[in-house]
Amino acid sequence: MSEPRLESYLQGRWAVGTQKGSPLVNPATEEVIAWTDTSGLDIGGALEFARVRGGQNLRDLSFKERGKLLGSMREALHGAREALIDSAMLNGGCTRGDAKFDVDGAIGTLAAYAELGESLGDVDVLLDGEGVQLGRSPKFWGQHVYLPRRGVAVLINAFNFPAWGFAEKAACAILAGMPVVTKPASATSHTAHLLTKVLVDANVLPEGVMSLICGAPGELLERLASQDVLAFTGSAVTGRRLRQHPVVVEKSVPVNVEADSLNAAVLGPDAELGSDLMQLFLRDVVTDMTQKTGQKCTAIRRIFVPAATCDGVIEALKERLAEIVVGNPAQKEVRMGPLATQQQLADVKEGTRRLREESEVMFGGADQPVKAVGVAEGTGYFFPITLLKSRDSAKSALVHQHEVFGPVATIVPYDGTADQASELVARGGGSLVSSIFTDDKKFLKQAMMGMAPYNGRLYLGSGKILDHTFGPGTVLPQSTHGGPGRAGGGEELGGIRGVQHFMQRTSLQGYRPLIEKITT
Ligand code: NAP
Repeated sequence: MSEPRLESYLQGRWAVGTQKGSPLVNPATEEVIAWTDTSGLDIGGALEFARVRGGQNLRDLSFKERGKLLGSMREALHGAREALIDSAMLNGGCTRGDAKFDVDGAIGTLAAYAELGESLGDVDVLLDGEGVQLGRSPKFWGQHVYLPRRGVAVLINAFNFPAWGFAEKAACAILAGMPVVTKPASATSHTAHLLTKVLVDANVLPEGVMSLICGAPGELLERLASQDVLAFTGSAVTGRRLRQHPVVVEKSVPVNVEADSLNAAVLGPDAELGSDLMQLFLRDVVTDMTQKTGQKCTAIRRIFVPAATCDGVIEALKERLAEIVVGNPAQKEVRMGPLATQQQLADVKEGTRRLREESEVMFGGADQPVKAVGVAEGTGYFFPITLLKSRDSAKSALVHQHEVFGPVATIVPYDGTADQASELVARGGGSLVSSIFTDDKKFLKQAMMGMAPYNGRLYLGSGKILDHTFGPGTVLPQSTHGGPGRAGGGEELGGIRGVQHFMQRTSLQGYRPLIEKITT
């Protein structure tokens, strides 16, 4: 075994398990690049070390000072940007553009929260709104405050965003004053391991603030305590398992779940072929289907198109999808890489087979051989870009139930009314984000009212923002990320809102001058 063994970083030291562990693979070439193993590691000890040392070290700092820590983390990661991008390309099957999306997303999120820390200033108490008179005299006063929880923030991430997934959670937790123990998905932990190494080597964080579990979780859940917070991103099945864990239930550990989502794009009846609005719609759909090989929690899976414009839209999408070169991301011309793991490939194949029970293939399809540039035929976890169309929109059920986590999306024709579009979107059972592409105010208002309760975020695509938007698939630190129902019922980011998840809200009641003295 000549490939490196990726160590965990626990109690301020690097440590490796006692067994051989599991391999990490380059999904384009199927070559083993490293191994992870956590057997025999003292996970409980690591959590306690973080709670005691890391927690105290952060609580000794003001918001502004913690913001500075985030700024230093950002700087260190920026300095190692190229190496992190290389790692994401090697282990995640990412093109350079996909890898930048993850790494720059992490750097940008840390920068945004560093600024937020600066703006909160040299204080250590976060006020929750205005104080309020509680008794007949103004002397008896009430004020809600947020203070850091005295535990550790356990951050469990999915395989698709090893850098950004870490940063969005860690930035909020550290700014709140909670140390973090991060557990990336084993299969793509190469990048999370490198990122931790960069931060440790740069010595930018006080002792105990950051730990890494690289590999299987071991007794992580069993060792949680009531002041800890569990922040999870991954599949709905794992999310449910973690939420129902006896220790989590018994100790009322707050759990934030970011899970699957059948995100929708609704094309308004006013969109004409050739218009800016249509350009934006086509660009966003193609980006979401192919960026990160469709392995984005926010990617558009269901495309609702007025029946009257459906044929033209399908032709325009096919034309654009045909331009995407698929292959080994090491080749410059490649615009879409393989799926991240062999399991992913098997799941996407099976998921597409299920969707096919109710739809026709418009482009690609599992029966098509993938012409992957830069690898020997049959090598790598490649899957063809696949556009499907529902046979019967009213009866289709699987498209609203089954998330195929790959370069696959389904067109569902509708009658062009906001009411029917909203009803179809709601069938997804709760999504992270849905998009409405229209410049028609009446349609937009009606669709917003119908769709908002089923979505954590609505992206309002107008022809006017063609050159000004990042698209619905990009999660921004200023806006909340999460969604109701099957999307997990969680919420992250959104400026200060994301920080508050790692703090306890307490209501203070007492003599007004004293309350004001201790909270400002
Ligand atoms: P997954 O299989 O659910 O795994 C997610 C994470 O949970 C991994 O780190 C995994 O570790 C860990 N895990 C599994 N069982 C655990 C246990 N018993 N205790 C502690 N940790 C445990 O999901 P995935 O395949 O990595 O990610 C794909 C899914 O994530 C997709 O369904 C996608 O929709 C969703 N996703 C959602 C968002 C969002 O923001 N809503 C973002 C990205 C992805 P191991 O790898 O070591 O098993």
